[in-house]
Amino acid sequence: MNRIDVTRFLESLYPPHLAYDWDNIGLQVGSLNKPLKRVLITLDVTRSVVKEAIEKRIDLLISHHPLIFQPIHNILFDTPRGALIKNLVKHDIALFSMHTNFDRADGGMNDILARKIGIKDAKLLDETYEIGRYGAIEPTTIKELVAMVKEVLELDHVRLIGDETREVSVVGISGGSGQQHIIPAQRKGCDVFLTGDISYHQAIDALQMGFPLVDIGHTAEKVFVEAVFDVLREQFPELDIAKSGIDTNPYQTL
Ligand SMILES: [Zn+2]
Repeated sequence: MNRIDVTRFLESLYPPHLAYDWDNIGLQVGSLNKPLKRVLITLDVTRSVVKEAIEKRIDLLISHHPLIFQPIHNILFDTPRGALIKNLVKHDIALFSMHTNFDRADGGMNDILARKIGIKDAKLLDETYEIGRYGAIEPTTIKELVAMVKEVLELDHVRLIGDETREVSVVGISGGSGQQHIIPAQRKGCDVFLTGDISYHQAIDALQMGFPLVDIGHTAEKVFVEAVFDVLREQFPELDIAKSGIDTNPYQTL
């Protein structure tokens, strides 16, 4: 099997054209025109993940968040990113990223998140950006919703902006940074909106509007790892596929 057999299959599920113009997806480092034995799947590419890839003699590393995002002008081995690129090249590990194409695809990030938190018949949340999902859940309080979300998405904590006693039955969700979808979520009739990267000022505004938000961070997107593992396992049963055991969440809550 060739590396490109796997990436072509993934691109058929999560088409590259779905990625936003500002994004940088696909092959980031290395060559796809090589034999493939071992794949490793991760949310982020960090030093620990690259170390794990080297130890497991991985040929193809698949990440959600791109390692190379802003254009780079040089590859300096003494910088964190440069050192990662150097190690990937040195060990002939190809790095392939699926970011907003995975988020926006049918069956991708937002469909998975919506299903996991119990949204039935999830619909498109933000028509302008063509991203996010919303729909009805079993009526509950925000407090109970948060407890369930933490459990099913395996999150240590979330940040709530709003009143936890409020009753909710329509929920919106957008994995990753979804601040720009707050107003569309409110317009769609959501009782609460779940996303990551909600800024202080956005939180103040939401509280004034009386629109509850739950910040689930980027860590909620680790569902990527399981999802990609499952589709590859089914399509390529003979392939050696591993899920990274590294928790790449950079934050600690003290
Ligand atoms: Zn993200």
